Amino acid sequence: MRLWRTPAQVERLEGTIGFVPTMGALHEGHLSLMRKAKSECDTCVISIFVNPTQFGPHEDFQKYPRPIEEDLRLAESVGVDAVFQPDVSDMYDESGVAVLPGKVAELWEGEFRPGHFQGVATIVTKLLHIIRPDISYFGSKDFQQCAVVAAVCEGLNIAGRLSFVDTIREADGLALSSRNRYLSPHERKVAPEIYTSLLKVRDAICHGNEVNGELHAAKYHLSELGIRVQYLAYVDAKTLQPVDRCIPVGRLIFAGYLGTTRLIDNCEVNL
Ligand code: AMP
Repeated sequence: MRLWRTPAQVERLEGTIGFVPTMGALHEGHLSLMRKAKSECDTCVISIFVNPTQFGPHEDFQKYPRPIEEDLRLAESVGVDAVFQPDVSDMYDESGVAVLPGKVAELWEGEFRPGHFQGVATIVTKLLHIIRPDISYFGSKDFQQCAVVAAVCEGLNIAGRLSFVDTIREADGLALSSRNRYLSPHERKVAPEIYTSLLKVRDAICHGNEVNGELHAAKYHLSELGIRVQYLAYVDAKTLQPVDRCIPVGRLIFAGYLGTTRLIDNCEVNL
């Protein structure tokens, strides 16, 4: 497995390239993207970069886990061919150049994490220009991020395909996340209720129940469990605009805090 520490070290590997951008602290969710890339492309390249521009001033950039040795071992175990692991100074200069993420970035995460998607759009654009993959793999766990990346690639005519991959979950339904390690034992017990609630709302909506009533009840239930809901919404899966009655391709999206840990999740609502 090759390790590239600067953009200048990145080589063009033979055949088709599948690319998985990550911030490290790899888990089965990340590894599922790598396995898919490996199965669909000749080579799999990943990046490990904790991107400072997508963290707000009071977020966990400094304390974000960076178990690099373990990450390299896991990447190698699933057959990754090359890891791009630059330092911040290799990716950003003083120019202030950035990518505008467009309209789909304005709602939801955009409201609660101002500047987050500009950071995501900028780093993804830079990584795609450096790696030049045939297919890039992103997890649907970060549903709005997928929409933002799709809009940026289309809006900036960035070549290559995008592949959005299903969320990998613990047996009890909790979506795998590098941030789950921050949860206390009690919070870890409560956390699966997020996905359980999403599925309950999904089923109710599909049965024709009133959307806003179901959302309200689920928010109340989660708040009773100590989860501070930032948003729980039923949206058009393409535009991410909220809708108040059942549509053919919708999505339920959630963000909230359990203690000091911010969790997000979502589920498909297809008729
Ligand atoms: P991150 O390191 O959190 O930036 O995530 C890197 C990639 O892995 C992103 O495309 C995420 O959406 C994806 N990812 C994170 N968690 C999961 C999961 N539980 N299942 C599938 N993909 C995931």
